[in-house]
Amino acid sequence: MNPGFDSPLCLGIESTAHTFGASIVDSKGQVITNVNSSYRPPSGVGIHPRKAAEHHGEHAFQVVREALATNGETHLDPDLIAYSAGPGLGPCLRVGATVARAISSYLGKPLVPVHHGIAHLDLAITASDAHDPLAVLVSGGHTAIIVHSDKKWIFYGETQDITLGNLLDMFAREGDLPSPGGLSVEQEAKHGQRLLPLPYTVKGNDIALSGLLTAAIRLLKKGEQVSDICFSIQEVAFAMLAEAVERSLVQTRRREVLLAGGVAANQRLREMIGQVARDHDASFHPVPSNYSGDCGAQIACSGQYAYRAGSSVPVSQSWVTPRWRLDEVEVSWIPRP
Ligand code: AMP
Ligand code: MG
Repeated sequence: MNPGFDSPLCLGIESTAHTFGASIVDSKGQVITNVNSSYRPPSGVGIHPRKAAEHHGEHAFQVVREALATNGETHLDPDLIAYSAGPGLGPCLRVGATVARAISSYLGKPLVPVHHGIAHLDLAITASDAHDPLAVLVSGGHTAIIVHSDKKWIFYGETQDITLGNLLDMFAREGDLPSPGGLSVEQEAKHGQRLLPLPYTVKGNDIALSGLLTAAIRLLKKGEQVSDICFSIQEVAFAMLAEAVERSLVQTRRREVLLAGGVAANQRLREMIGQVARDHDASFHPVPSNYSGDCGAQIACSGQYAYRAGSSVPVSQSWVTPRWRLDEVEVSWIPRP
């Protein structure tokens, strides 16, 4: 029984990288449950795909069980099952897909593959009430400035090398700061006072971050204060992105700016991108912080849209695609009415 919720209910399973998540979202995009368990590698070490997949396998049962219960009591009956089909780490993706296939087969309910990056956008758009924004997707896997046109999200600007999430995670690893690196850098940056020189590389609507990472690691080895380096990384890297976003906003003439993905939890980044929007009389739509990082809710939310657009597949064709570009996916549900 699904008392008080708008059918169909979608169960979303997320497992692309560090997080195994399960969530129930109703047909109006209301998040009913959202349960997530994240693999945290030891300080100084990156995510090992096999270890993350082992974590997912160990926690899947409990996470799904909790997601199917409200108040720990009412049992929810999903009408469709969505899973993150890519992009992501192969061993991790396969755990989520296997769980989703099993539930779909057992319940006899449709199975819906979802693109993880599109799902970040769908949840952010739904939760922040945007309609047709210039979207800034900043996460471990993406640093992209995109707009929706002709049933596709198209890239207006992006990183030419590593993502913003990679930059923060790799620096945190060098500095022995705990995972998630972006959160550690943000906390350190609050105590930083000196703006140290770091390379600023904007090329049109694109940015490049690997030179900045190398220079920041060099400052660390020279004995500069970690807090000052973190402060400087944020100020310089975020200003680069803000410049590229500003140029894209003027060129695309969008009236809304969306900020989505795990790095969107960062307060300083929200301030800077929000200021760009304000300067150009556009409204600013940051994803709510509790939904910024990878979570089951993004998959359940995107699953609702994808299912309505006819994207369910039989179990025999429920692939995972570790490398899957966002602009290859047909998305017919933006702009929202
Ligand atoms: P996602 O893959 O969307 O979950 O995003 C993960 C990325 O978000 C990782 O690179 C994290 O280090 C980063 N992240 C998480 N919290 C923060 C934060 N408060 N500030 C900046 N980056 C963050
Ligand atoms: Mg993500």
